[in-house]
Amino acid sequence: MTAPVNETSETNETLAGRAAALMPGGVGSSARVLHRPFVFTRAKGAELTDADGRTYVDLNCAFGAIVLGHGDEAQLARALELASGLGLVGLGTTPIEMDLADLVVRHLPSAERVVFCCSGSEATYHALRLARGRTGRPRIAKFQGAYHGWHDYVAMNFMTTPDAIGTYDPFSAGIPPGVGESTLVLPFNDTDRVEALLRREAASLAAVIVEPIMHNTGSFAGRPDFLAMLRRVTAELGIVLIFDEVISGFRHGLGGYQAICGVTPDLTTFGKAIANGFPIAGVAGRKDLMDGFRAKPHGTVMFGGTYNATPLSCAAAIACIERLSRPGAHDRLYALGTRFRDGVQAAIDALGVPAQVAGHGSISILHFMRGPMDSYEDIAVNRRDLDVAFRVAMIERGFMMSTTPFRRLHLTLAHTETQIDAAVAAAADALAGLPY
Ligand code: PLP
Repeated sequence: MTAPVNETSETNETLAGRAAALMPGGVGSSARVLHRPFVFTRAKGAELTDADGRTYVDLNCAFGAIVLGHGDEAQLARALELASGLGLVGLGTTPIEMDLADLVVRHLPSAERVVFCCSGSEATYHALRLARGRTGRPRIAKFQGAYHGWHDYVAMNFMTTPDAIGTYDPFSAGIPPGVGESTLVLPFNDTDRVEALLRREAASLAAVIVEPIMHNTGSFAGRPDFLAMLRRVTAELGIVLIFDEVISGFRHGLGGYQAICGVTPDLTTFGKAIANGFPIAGVAGRKDLMDGFRAKPHGTVMFGGTYNATPLSCAAAIACIERLSRPGAHDRLYALGTRFRDGVQAAIDALGVPAQVAGHGSISILHFMRGPMDSYEDIAVNRRDLDVAFRVAMIERGFMMSTTPFRRLHLTLAHTETQIDAAVAAAADALAGLPY
């Protein structure tokens, strides 16, 4: 038996060697690769500690899954209390699954019915298949720059280089030929062009999937006229409108971004912040569509998953929603995000460097370009070399984040003003040293 990692006296370097000998690249998700090996031995509140014993303020927060803070003891205690006496049953349902369903239906405007699965990718897969099954149409539409998970029908046109915009740009090998033809890639916030394309392709389109505030990639909001057009035109053409709120759901408000922008989709996918790091996600939406899932006597669309609605994950989600329901919780998340963005933008302005800050609520991002930030096409000219160099400089100054360009920063209820101000100061210092 090897000693548990958090009791070892080994370093990042030696442990990472062991990880690399066991797991491809030494990490469990492509998105976790950093500029040098890191093995984290503790995650608590807003901080991460690595095997070298160095502590970092976490500005990644598991790509947005952590919203209360790491290892929130009140959430854990409440989750254990709620799930007590229930492991995974795997037949029928449980009161705790119903209680969570009740919370989602109560808070999320589009939710008349809901189902739970384990990850955002599963949720978007199920929602798209449901749309195909209900409409009998084969294709779907997504937006350039959008990420909706790793599965074949959406694994394309994500961080596309400027020269490849407008072409099929899969982000993985192993996708069967022809899959790309099943997905129409659209330009975000281009109201007239998107309306024309939807009208032209309607006969074959089952669904449009969109983040109403596009956190992948760029963190820019759908303009009111654009979102209103999507709602109006998809309803008219019989296309299912899916809001992917895997990032925005519960983090920006218990009603998701749809409660903020006032547009109600047919289906919503959610995950991440609902449970502060526990693996649970779901699909919610209109009763007549959701009843297409085969759980219903006459449903025809398969919905399965051994670990769906695992009681401990449901309990963690209920405990997280209870915490986020307390007065002031979202105000606090918004205030921390505004403090960070204002501080970093002020530093950029003082330095006069070609960068700008975007984001909403507790999510922020720096773009190393100037000009409009309304679509992926706008921000595709982001200087990726500077973006990466900034991230590396921040990590070396004690602020952990992904070193992949375009990845967002997320704050939690565990972050303090002192940590935010220190992050702003570190950002100013890092920005001053970049090779523009
Ligand atoms: N949808 C969006 C908008 C996401 O950002 C992500 C993940 O980052 C997913 C879906 C996929 O979620 P998961 O990583 O839980 O499979």
